[in-house]
Amino acid sequence: MAVESEKRFDTLKIHAGYDPKQHNYASQVPIYQTVAFGFSDPERAERLVNLKEKGFSYTRVGNPTTDVLEKRIAELDGGSEAVAVGSGMAAVSYTLLNLAEGGGRIITAANIYGTSFDEFRTLFPKFGITFDFIDDINDLDRVEAKIRDDTKAIFAESVTNPDTNVTHVEALAALAHKHGIPLVIDNTFPTPYLFNPIHYGADIVVYSSTKGISGHGEVVSGLIVDAGKFDYGNGRFKQFEEKEFVLGDEEAQVERSFTETFGTRAFAARIRVKYLRLLGAVLSPIESYFVLLGIETLSERLKKQVASAEKIASFLAQNPHVKAVHYSGLSDHPQHELVNRYFPRGVGAIFAFEIDGTEAQAKKILNYVKIFSYLPNVGDARSLIVNPGRTTHREIPSAYRRKSGLTNTLLRLSIGLEDADDLIGDLDQAIRQAFV
Ligand SMILES: *Cc1c(COP(=O)(O)O)cnc(C)c1O
Repeated sequence: MAVESEKRFDTLKIHAGYDPKQHNYASQVPIYQTVAFGFSDPERAERLVNLKEKGFSYTRVGNPTTDVLEKRIAELDGGSEAVAVGSGMAAVSYTLLNLAEGGGRIITAANIYGTSFDEFRTLFPKFGITFDFIDDINDLDRVEAKIRDDTKAIFAESVTNPDTNVTHVEALAALAHKHGIPLVIDNTFPTPYLFNPIHYGADIVVYSSTKGISGHGEVVSGLIVDAGKFDYGNGRFKQFEEKEFVLGDEEAQVERSFTETFGTRAFAARIRVKYLRLLGAVLSPIESYFVLLGIETLSERLKKQVASAEKIASFLAQNPHVKAVHYSGLSDHPQHELVNRYFPRGVGAIFAFEIDGTEAQAKKILNYVKIFSYLPNVGDARSLIVNPGRTTHREIPSAYRRKSGLTNTLLRLSIGLEDADDLIGDLDQAIRQAFV
């Protein structure tokens, strides 16, 4: 059951990466809630630790439940391999450290998740990794002008939060590859159901599967998917070409590098061996199970949520107290052509709107909604509302927030699985009360 890519999405989301024969024919993926796995005999122990035989020995490095999740997401994204980690932030951090470890520059879209922005601006420079922030990542001339000898990657989100701008992944990938640099895409908002960055040339895809992938607001988790096509032996990534003690054989006095040992699969291998194993942000087996359970209904949830989001966005666009709806799924959006090309199933169920009023009125709406929950999350089965300028995006300095139109009268919605007309009714009554 290893390579299943010829199957369609809805079959893969239920079956990919799982062979019931190997698990007592259990219909659901069993939760291997164990730390360690027996070696059986000393010969097998040696084969396992020397990577001569595939198998499990310690859950920080690999676990059969998590392994199914990793294989499933790799199949859904068209990647060669995936590594599950303890959170979306661990996925972002490990990926960029793996690429720029030892120092270097990364080109990033400025309009990104607030915590990623804060990490790039204030923490990574302390590790010798500095960022070139680009206001419009689709401005390829601007991006190209920033590429230098020590640039290690280009990073962007496929769909931005909360204004749903879309990144021109295909063009960005071509530019990155022209310069021997990998493209990393945070695909959290669309999920693999709405968009496959690897199909358009991205080399690494990261997810906060805390959001739409697990889909029920129940588990913090992250995923890293490696397309398995990039050559990390091109001279730009010393850490991939260094001889590694752990990949060699001390008695035979051989040491090997990641590129020698794993070829174009070196990225995922190095994440597992150096970052998961040494820094340790592992996803627990039961959490992997929750994410797998979420993936089983990913397309059904997204289909309904996108349809409801489009209906609710149209309602808000007609509302006299709404100044603007920030949703690239609407037909009059400047990016509509790009959206049609990349997102035939819709651009997602998370968007924002700006009220034609005061911040006090925006706060009233937050107080008056009855079905929407006021909390800092997205991609839940429940509908959510938040004022990002004061909460989720507080980590971004106001100068950057202003550039992306993130005012304090902007409200973000994440549409859940409730009845769309009830959700419209809820927003309608809250807006009415806020404007009396
Ligand atoms: C939530 C989020 C993250 C961080 O994920 P956690 O699972 O909360 O650590 C990263 N990127 C994007 C786009 C997100 O929405």
